[in-house]
Amino acid sequence: MLPPALEAEILAAKLPKFRAKQLSEWVWDKFAGAYDEMTNLPKELRVLLAEELPITPLALVKTTQSGDDTRKFLFRLADGNLIESVLISAPGRLTACVSSQVGCALACSFCASGLQGLVRNLAPSEITGQIQMLQSIQKERISNIVYMGMGEPFANFDNVLESVAILNHSKCAGIGARKITISTSGLVPGILKLIRDPRQVRLSISLHAATDEIRNRIMPINQRYPIAELMRACRKYQADTGRMITFEYILLDGITCTQEQADALARLLRGIRCTVNLIPYNTVEGLPYRRPPLPAQKSFLHTLMDARVRATLRMEKGHDISAACGQLRLQNLESLPSDS
Ligand code: SF4
Repeated sequence: MLPPALEAEILAAKLPKFRAKQLSEWVWDKFAGAYDEMTNLPKELRVLLAEELPITPLALVKTTQSGDDTRKFLFRLADGNLIESVLISAPGRLTACVSSQVGCALACSFCASGLQGLVRNLAPSEITGQIQMLQSIQKERISNIVYMGMGEPFANFDNVLESVAILNHSKCAGIGARKITISTSGLVPGILKLIRDPRQVRLSISLHAATDEIRNRIMPINQRYPIAELMRACRKYQADTGRMITFEYILLDGITCTQEQADALARLLRGIRCTVNLIPYNTVEGLPYRRPPLPAQKSFLHTLMDARVRATLRMEKGHDISAACGQLRLQNLESLPSDS
């Protein structure tokens, strides 16, 4: 909750206002995951609060550690639905990748999350709860957030922006807006609405193909918002906000990773201040795509660099635990040990 809402809850419970500040500090600064940890609160109050005002609507079901410094967390929501979040460690930064929906309606053909369809939107507390839970598990401050987990953030625009407000607030998680990235598959109205938001969050576009012919095949959303319309919105976003844009581009062997697509992408991005993240495809069981060989990945990268488009070839973390982009997927609850 934002501080005024928390204060209102505390006052409604006939408690003194300073308790709200204490709770915020415990949750967001000392990473408390349970009221029992809040040792300067009277015991009876801790018991009462645990019943009346649960810290989070999430329960940890399972943690999976990757060989590199990536961990995937499966959380159960109050209604039994499952969502996943990922923590990625790098020197000087701890990045959380959060989900914004249970499932996803957009059915990108290479994405595991899209296989199950949309179940429902997440509430703001179910999004901020992922950060609160991760910090309380890790006992460490998260420095960066990417809305790149399960779901399309702009299909849940208001709740996502409310969660950003809470995570950005100095008396809550206090994560700088520039350290928060919202990733969209190209919902143009969401991009245009984000222009009006005063916070300087970063925008990332999951482009993944450079022509309508290919993008229509792998991302059905392109039939609603074709590439020309999407790029118009990106140019307007950049003209109005002055901010850089990141484009995510998945390399599918023989489909998006071809010389024609590389040339088309270089033409498409001419004049836009941006970075392109090239993401070699990650194997998803049951999907028919292949990761291109390394020379083809490098050739794609060099075509962009020769055209003076800033681009990186992403060395994906978390590949071995299905935590990489497009790999988050609900698993059968019965097969999971609880609280492991
Ligand atoms: S890539 Fe993103 S938008 Fe597409 S189906 Fe997966 S979660 Fe949804």
